[in-house]
Amino acid sequence: MQPKQRILNAPVYQPGKPIEDVKREFGLTEVIKLASNENPYGCSPKAKAAIAEQLDNLALYPDGASLNLRWDLADALGVKPSQLIFGNGSDEILLMISRAFLSEGTNTVMATPTFSQYRSNAIIEGAELIEVPLKDGVHDLEAMAAAINEQTKVVWVCNPNNPSGTIVTATELEAFLQKVPSSVLVVMDEAYYEYVVDSAYPQTVPMLSQYPNLIILRTFSKIYGLATLRIGYGIASEELVSALEHVREPFNTGALGQVAARAALHDQEFVISCRDRNREGLKQLTDAFDDWGLSYFPTQTNFILVDLKMDSDEVFKKLLMNGIIVRSGNALGFPGYQRITVGTKEQNEKILSVLKEIVTGALK
Ligand SMILES: *Cc1c(COP(=O)(O)O)cnc(C)c1O
Repeated sequence: MQPKQRILNAPVYQPGKPIEDVKREFGLTEVIKLASNENPYGCSPKAKAAIAEQLDNLALYPDGASLNLRWDLADALGVKPSQLIFGNGSDEILLMISRAFLSEGTNTVMATPTFSQYRSNAIIEGAELIEVPLKDGVHDLEAMAAAINEQTKVVWVCNPNNPSGTIVTATELEAFLQKVPSSVLVVMDEAYYEYVVDSAYPQTVPMLSQYPNLIILRTFSKIYGLATLRIGYGIASEELVSALEHVREPFNTGALGQVAARAALHDQEFVISCRDRNREGLKQLTDAFDDWGLSYFPTQTNFILVDLKMDSDEVFKKLLMNGIIVRSGNALGFPGYQRITVGTKEQNEKILSVLKEIVTGALK
């Protein structure tokens, strides 16, 4: 028995450590997870009610086309229903794009460090990777455009970027899109779209009419707080969506996810309140970092990449022993850093109190 050799070269995704794992390992009763950019306020109560209503229908296959969600989302975005594709998380749409466009003999351009799944999927499909280093934590769009060649099929732009939290501006993106040949697909991964407050951030949906080679990815996993239900979506031209439909699994999104996402979409008050509380939480963190003289990347997301100038895995371990799970910068291409998800006020207080002991050397 021998699987395809190249899939073994693709790294197995290393998720944030589960809470139960840490409780057991360190004998703790209270553990907070600030590792996976989940919403600390949960999801809209309307989403929970919608799931409860659906519980008598578990024996039925879901609507493979996600029609109710599709119609409402198309309406909210001002696009045609046929311009949307749904995935089991936006992770699955990355996979569908890779499966549809990448193969041996092609290449794909992305930043580094960025979201790990672009790379993994490209390796699985046998495409060559062209990785362009971030410049001060930001996508270097000029260098990325220059890296495109005859074999390039897909370019990935993670905006805001995970793990740095930075954005490319509308002006920078427009200049980039003008340079990219129309035969090359540009993927805008906007998983943190709803968290962004910077007015320089590009509004990409209106750009679709000018750039048919563009696809925008968003998700219900982050600000909507529905990560467990796995609903992500792509917005693109009808032509591109119909091509991707050929590689979509028939029932890739579940009915509970569809009804919850639809209800959550109609609770924009919840979304706005999470965005506002997130900015307050960020200020709480950055005020402390400023006090301690720590540098960090300017973030438009619900996480922050901070330079503790200490061995990342050691700091990670110390936080873990104190019941706090974050992401070590070593795993993200930023040695010396930690990526911390913004929590509730209380969670932020807790991590700051432990971090303070770490940076002052009080915690050995
Ligand atoms: C979280 C995240 C995703 C994946 O989200 P799902 O919809 O849960 O699959 C995609 N891209 C980036 C940059 C993310 O941070």
